[in-house]
Amino acid sequence: MSTTHGSTNVHDRAQHALADDFLRQAVHFTTDRLRYKKQAVTGEFGNWEAWRERGRQIRQHTIANLDYYLDLFTRNLEAHGAHVHFAATADDAIHALREIATAQNAKRIVKSKSMVTEEIHVNHHLEEMGIHVVETDLGEYIVQLSGETPSHIIIPAIHKNREQIRDLFEAAGGERLTTETRDLAAFARRTLRRAYLAADIGITGCNFGIAETGSIALFTNEGNADLVMNMPKTHIVFMGMERILPTMEDLEVFAHLLPKSATGQNVITYMSVITGPRRQHEADGARDMHVIILDNGRSRQLGDPDFQAVLHCIRCGACLNVCPVYRQIGGHAYGSVYPGPIGAVLSPLLNNGEQYQDLPYASSLCGACYEACPVKIPLHDMLVRERQRFVASGRVKPAERAAFQAFRQLFGKAGRYQTTIRIARRLQFPIAHDGYIRAKIGPLAGWTMSRDFPVLPKRTFRELWPELTRKGNGRG
Ligand code: SF4
Repeated sequence: MSTTHGSTNVHDRAQHALADDFLRQAVHFTTDRLRYKKQAVTGEFGNWEAWRERGRQIRQHTIANLDYYLDLFTRNLEAHGAHVHFAATADDAIHALREIATAQNAKRIVKSKSMVTEEIHVNHHLEEMGIHVVETDLGEYIVQLSGETPSHIIIPAIHKNREQIRDLFEAAGGERLTTETRDLAAFARRTLRRAYLAADIGITGCNFGIAETGSIALFTNEGNADLVMNMPKTHIVFMGMERILPTMEDLEVFAHLLPKSATGQNVITYMSVITGPRRQHEADGARDMHVIILDNGRSRQLGDPDFQAVLHCIRCGACLNVCPVYRQIGGHAYGSVYPGPIGAVLSPLLNNGEQYQDLPYASSLCGACYEACPVKIPLHDMLVRERQRFVASGRVKPAERAAFQAFRQLFGKAGRYQTTIRIARRLQFPIAHDGYIRAKIGPLAGWTMSRDFPVLPKRTFRELWPELTRKGNGRG
């Protein structure tokens, strides 16, 4: 079953995902594995909370002084021969990309995984220019062949099984394949190697930009980013403006925090740090390097006490793996490039509240995302503040507003609350069975479809309390 669904409503998309048993099993299986691996690796590592706090402090300091560090980063990058392009909007970034590609007369591009390029639909724009673009991260390659978008920040093809991948590869390569991992990986390796050799430009993202040296740090498990940035003659880096760290020493902290949080690995397989294009005496590296630094709504969060901390995010995906909502519905149900708790906060902010307004409601506010986050971003608090802003903007449906006003009236005073409970206790009898309400009535229908709704007990705690204290006093 396809996991994409064209509805503009998160509720409809979630229903569609919930009906997909394979998707739910696959997402459960993989997120469980990632979570357990993370628990094991952070448990062995020592004082994980102290590392989280260190990570939080570094990100808080960096974002609080982002103008200074961005300026330092840019000056150092340029001193090493890289070209820096600041893009206020997605259109500006695409414009810069077009100019570079046109100047290089580029026909073929290889790319490594980058969420920021997904955010501004780089592949779509390149295809419009008649440029053949190939994703080289295996998961990204799979979703590119299937015409989908990634459904997880770290594991883009989390929703695909071997048979589906085999079918996609057979259709792309015109050859018969088994569903053995070795066979599938060998096909991808053969195909992607040809793409690296033929590419005019390589595009990567950037895990971290190091301000003190003007370096780009890239973390991968497949080594594909190294081929992407070394084999073509031009290397373009896309990075969100917040992806800065002040020093190499800070990078060391994140070399622990990122892989452990993302995939439960002690260290990432390939961590590459590049500082400018190839110099005369060097044997490898692109001849020409461009770094496109994207704002696209990020600077609006600077100075906002409610939301500035969202810029601390290092895109590890750990919040997705623990989220009880993401783990049921997967990433496509969010409808935005960034899924899960971070997507529910970030996507409406990047779009200035004009899109994805329903995502902050796709949360149980349990706070598991905060506990998992290596830089301690209070996502659950931000979700509540986004809801507050949405309500304050007057865009809530009249029926919902009336329902909550009635709720406040009934539950705002102890006397009214007690009377309401007494009446509800009598009214529930016709629809109660075996201690539960199972009726599909009005808003109750959505609740009782997938959750228990216990009947109100014969006596409330408040009614029991005098009796309990009497007995307690008697014993004492
Ligand atoms: S919010 Fe925290 S846990 Fe989620 S992706 Fe960002 S850094 Fe990772």
